[in-house]
Amino acid sequence: MEGEISMETVVATTKEELKQEIDCWRNAGETIGLVPTMGYLHEGHASLIRRARQECDRVMVSVFVNPTQFAPGEDLEAYPRDFERDRQLCRQLGVDLIFHPTPEVMYPQGFGTTIAMDQSMTGVLCGKTRPTHFQGVCTVVCKLFGLSHADRAYFGQKDAQQLAIVRKMNRDLDLGVTVVGCPIVREADGLAKSSRNVYLNPQERQAALVLSQAVKLGQEKVAQGETDADAIVSAMKEHIGKEPLARIDYVEAVDDIDLRPAHTVVSGTLFAMAVYIGKTRLIDNFITGGDAK
Ligand code: AMP
Repeated sequence: MEGEISMETVVATTKEELKQEIDCWRNAGETIGLVPTMGYLHEGHASLIRRARQECDRVMVSVFVNPTQFAPGEDLEAYPRDFERDRQLCRQLGVDLIFHPTPEVMYPQGFGTTIAMDQSMTGVLCGKTRPTHFQGVCTVVCKLFGLSHADRAYFGQKDAQQLAIVRKMNRDLDLGVTVVGCPIVREADGLAKSSRNVYLNPQERQAALVLSQAVKLGQEKVAQGETDADAIVSAMKEHIGKEPLARIDYVEAVDDIDLRPAHTVVSGTLFAMAVYIGKTRLIDNFITGGDAK
């Protein structure tokens, strides 16, 4: 990431500080790009930021580990954080503003509204084992859309279900943001970049390759003309099953827009998986016919 633009990046921790900046931009007629993150930034986040930098006059990155999308017993406390490093990376990437609020700023005393989408999209895939997760995601994303007045917001296909759900919320609630999906960024050996990869010990890091190997296997079968989505899912599961440290949460084929089960491969079939490697739950996916729309 060397050799990229270097400039001042404003850090806002309160809504008032944020509003001051956003108002200036809006008064000047500048377009605003939002990149919501939970911090501990890596090349996956950087790809979203670069895209926003190319397409918008102003770029705002939010760094907020959103407690409402974690269930009790999940890794809220353990989730990796390094704000100083995030700040430096954002500066190198030419980010204008980082919004880094505390949970109290986002959810003050008396906060009482949540966005609950129907179960057809939030109760499937990751929603089966994380039933309240997407309610937390939708609520925080909706708040960030409102606070940022973003014209465009950038999300990774790495979290394909989240992307589909955010698009639906944006449509259903007429939030008026252009939601942009960005391709999955991977390590050299194929593992999808994730802040959670730091949880893996060396043995688990090696075992985690079964996810991207299963993606590759699935993609090869599609390229060979296989149209039976269930057969592809079975082959992917069989491959993952060979790794003793891996425990499958799910491997499924669905439509990439409405997340309904897909049995025949068409353009826009999403093959998605969540797999535990030791105690760490990792996700990966691919969409036939290209990246997320
Ligand atoms: P997170 O900080 O994990 O909540 O991710 C913030 C945003 O970055 C989400 O839209 C993710 O989908 C996206 N993202 C995370 N990892 C990757 C990756 N490896 N490739 C592309 N986008 C990613």
